Amino acid sequence: MNKASDTGFFGRCGGKYVGEILRQPIDQLEQAFRTLIRDADFLAELDAVRSDFIGRPTPLLYAERTSDALGGARIFIKMEGLAHTGAHKINNAVGQALIARRMGKKRIIAETGAGQHGLATAAACAKLGLECRIYMGEVDVRRQQPNVAAMEMYGATVVPVAAGSRILKDAINEAMRDWAANFETTHYLIGSALGPAPFPDMVRTFQSVIGRETERQMAERGKSIDALVACVGGGSNAIGFFEPFIEREKPDLYAAEAGGTGPGRGNNAARMGGDAVDGIVQGYKSRFLLDDDGQVSTTRSISAGLDYAGIGPQLADLGSSGRVQFSAIRDDEALRAVQTFARNEGVMFALESAHAGALALKLAPAMGADKNIVVNMSGRGDKDIFITSPIFRPAEWREFLTAELERLASGKDIHDAKSMGA
Ligand SMILES: *Cc1c(COP(=O)(O)O)cnc(C)c1O
Repeated sequence: MNKASDTGFFGRCGGKYVGEILRQPIDQLEQAFRTLIRDADFLAELDAVRSDFIGRPTPLLYAERTSDALGGARIFIKMEGLAHTGAHKINNAVGQALIARRMGKKRIIAETGAGQHGLATAAACAKLGLECRIYMGEVDVRRQQPNVAAMEMYGATVVPVAAGSRILKDAINEAMRDWAANFETTHYLIGSALGPAPFPDMVRTFQSVIGRETERQMAERGKSIDALVACVGGGSNAIGFFEPFIEREKPDLYAAEAGGTGPGRGNNAARMGGDAVDGIVQGYKSRFLLDDDGQVSTTRSISAGLDYAGIGPQLADLGSSGRVQFSAIRDDEALRAVQTFARNEGVMFALESAHAGALALKLAPAMGADKNIVVNMSGRGDKDIFITSPIFRPAEWREFLTAELERLASGKDIHDAKSMGA
């Protein structure tokens, strides 16, 4: 089903498992969303921000040299990574922030793990004149400093969360607490197609612009779409990309999960293709990787955006029914796909998106040359230079960082910054 039931379910997944205190904000939000998404004035406002701020439509690129080399299906790349802030996350951030502003909320809170959702939210809030507070696990704050710096540049307050394992799930708990205490003035802007209803429907709706543009762009070229491929963390880029096609028989829909270093508990973040079980976590029922005590497991992936134990309820349902086929792509396969597309097409995939790219590279040779695959490049790879450089060029990277540290220690730049009034 392409929309949650009235109680927020997709098959047996979804729902809104929240305490009494969050009932009111959730009901308010649901009503505002259902009304605004049919409001011509709101949709015009959304369209204008999409074109002027996000930079939509994003291009669709024929991966000519890659397709020729593989000799099978033709591969097209939906260039979502060219959206402002470098990934698809801005589509949802802008949509929800506009809803919040219409509801009269002055303050936005959000969770972030790697910082990509925090970055998109901070930029959207700056553009729309909303106060922004980003909850982020202390561990993530420490290892994602470039994104923290960017969020602060956009005027957001980044709050390090010291509870629990001090990572994404703890940041979500903290954001939920803030929302419960402050919902009169505050909207909680969830970053993926998960959480309690109506978030999965709302996030899919705002991300469906990816799928609708893709359908139009392929039709304009007179091309059929035989397969769509997307990576899945929480599932927002995939479900938005698939949205127009879910209830049709074709195209085939493929989802790439993080296969990490390989099979085995703790080595990956493969939910549908792995050992996930039914659970209710952070307000919704879905498939989760849980440990023996029923706690959310630690997962592993080279891509921070796919390194998550849960999956959006609609994708979990579509995986169970077989409409979406899931595959686990290992870290090394994703890294190779980054190189392949960079060298052949001049396009650097984000590590997350490279999981989808790697799956497309596997699928194409087995399909006829008259078939077309579209892969969603959910983000661009500039942000990953701190991960890819130590792998591809370890000696040069170490030398660079050492020189940077020495320059900082010399105090020269600090002096320069002071003279600029920083
Ligand atoms: C966050 C992120 C993802 C994973 O999130 P989804 O909700 O599954 O889309 C994928 N790609 C990029 C570039 C991201 O930043």
